[in-house]
Amino acid sequence: MVQGTVNWNIKLDKEWLQEYVDDWVAFYRKATKEGNVASYIPILAKANPNHLGIAIHGKNGLKICSGDIDIPFTIQSISKVISFMVACMKNGVSYVLDRVDVEPTGEAFNSIMHLEMKSLNKPFNPFVNAGALTVTSMLNGATSSDKLAPLFNLLERMIGYRPSVNQEVFKSEDETSARNRAIGYYLLETGFLESDLEVTLETYFKQCSIEITVDDLARIGLILANDGQDPNNEEEIIPRQIARITKALMLTCGMYDASGKFATYVGIPAKSGVSGGIVAVAPPRVRNAPFPFIEGCGIGVYGPALEDRGNSIAGMKLLKHIASQWDLSIF
Ligand code: GLU
Repeated sequence: MVQGTVNWNIKLDKEWLQEYVDDWVAFYRKATKEGNVASYIPILAKANPNHLGIAIHGKNGLKICSGDIDIPFTIQSISKVISFMVACMKNGVSYVLDRVDVEPTGEAFNSIMHLEMKSLNKPFNPFVNAGALTVTSMLNGATSSDKLAPLFNLLERMIGYRPSVNQEVFKSEDETSARNRAIGYYLLETGFLESDLEVTLETYFKQCSIEITVDDLARIGLILANDGQDPNNEEEIIPRQIARITKALMLTCGMYDASGKFATYVGIPAKSGVSGGIVAVAPPRVRNAPFPFIEGCGIGVYGPALEDRGNSIAGMKLLKHIASQWDLSIF
C-alpha cells in the first residue's frame, strides 16, 4: 500500500492509479463494519453491508473503477439533484427558488420539527424531504409517469441509457411512508404543493427507487464538474447557471447534517442517499503540481453501511482520502 506523500509527477499512468485506488478500497472496506445499512425502508436492510465500490471518470476519458462496482442500487436522495435540475430547466430558476430556499437546516433530511419551529416561509432547500416533495410537485403532468418522464430523459442523456424503477423498493417505500406522508400533508396544508398529494408522493417514491450504478453516478458527477456540458462533445445537457447552483447546494446541503464537515474536510460538492450511494464532483483545478484528474472528474461511490447521519461510512472515508491525496478540494 502506498503511504505518505506521493510524487504524482511520476505516478499518473492508469495502471498505477488503478492499483492505488484498489489498495485504498481494500483498506477502507474495513470501515464498513463501523456502520449500519438503512432499515427504515425495510428492503434496504437486505443490502450487503460489506460492499464498497468506486468509479472515477475523467474529462479525457480516463476511468478508474474499483471494488463492488457491478451492484445496482437505488438512487434515493441523489434523485433530488435530478428533480431540482429538471424543475429549474422547466420552470426557471427564480420560479423554483421563490418556492424552495437554499439554506442548510442542521436537521435530519426527514425532520418535521423544523417545518413548524422556524416559521416556515418556504422549505429550507431542495435536498431535504420537504423541499424535494415541493420540487417534485412542480414537475409537469397529472400522473407519476408524466412527472417522471423528464427525469428519465435527463438521466438518459447523462448516463447513456434509460434506467428503471426498482418496483420492490418503490413498494417498500410506499408501505412505510408515514413520515413522508406527514411532511406531505404539512406542505399541503401550508399551500406549498403544486400538484395532488398522492401523485406527488408516488412520483417522489418512484424517483427515489430508480436503479443506477457507481458508473452512472461518476458520469453525472463528471457532467456537473464540466458545468453541465457533455465532456465528449461539449454539448450542453444542463444550463451552466443551473449546474452552478446545483453544485453550491450539494456543497452546503448534500451530505445531510454532516454537510459542513464534508465541505470542510473533503471540500467538493457531493450528494448522498440512504442506500449508500454518493455522487461527488471535482471541478478542474489550477495547481502547479500535476495531480491526477487535474481537469476535473466525477466520482460515484457505493457503500450501504451508513454512519448515523445517513452517509456511506466507508464511502466518506475513501472520498476524504482520495480528495486530500489528489488535492481535489475546491478551496
Ligand atoms: N426515499 C428516502 C426517503 O425519503 C430517501 C432518503 C434519502 O436518501 O435521503 O426517506
